Amino acid sequence: MLQYDKTFPTLDCAACIGTPKMVAVGQDKNINLMTNTEVESVSGFIGNFKVNVNQHARYVKTNCTGCGDCAKVCPVEAPNEWDVETRMRKAIYISFPQAVPVRYAIDKKDRGPCVQTCPAGINIQGFVALIKAGKYQESLNVIMETMPLPGTLGRNLPGPL
Ligand code: SF4
Repeated sequence: MLQYDKTFPTLDCAACIGTPKMVAVGQDKNINLMTNTEVESVSGFIGNFKVNVNQHARYVKTNCTGCGDCAKVCPVEAPNEWDVETRMRKAIYISFPQAVPVRYAIDKKDRGPCVQTCPAGINIQGFVALIKAGKYQESLNVIMETMPLPGTLGRNLPGPL
């Protein structure tokens, strides 16, 4: 609902309705807020429910303050699901600006096909992202981490590289 600007039929502001409720839930001592979590099954009856959940890893420590410094320097971008992929976000991100709690997360995807198939195991995406950001020395460092003598590769392999 919060992704919409206004709600039908009263044209109420969706964020004005949802945000105070999210903050109230986040501050309630009797509620254990489990974000990034999916309900897998519910059984039982009123007063005695059993719920199985699947809580996805954030890959960020729980003491994250939400300062956003990591996102400012993160060189990797991905389509922003909150904006229905019309804009980009960083690989470390907060799901949307008013999210509760304000805690960053990393979507751990499988490695890119270029990284998987590189015979030297170079982090190509990191290299390209750093080049794009104009960080040439850092991009060279990415290559040198896994292949300290890059000039030898073409000479030792029979196929053209
Ligand atoms: S927002 Fe990023 S830099 Fe700031 S505390 Fe959380 S993980 Fe660390």
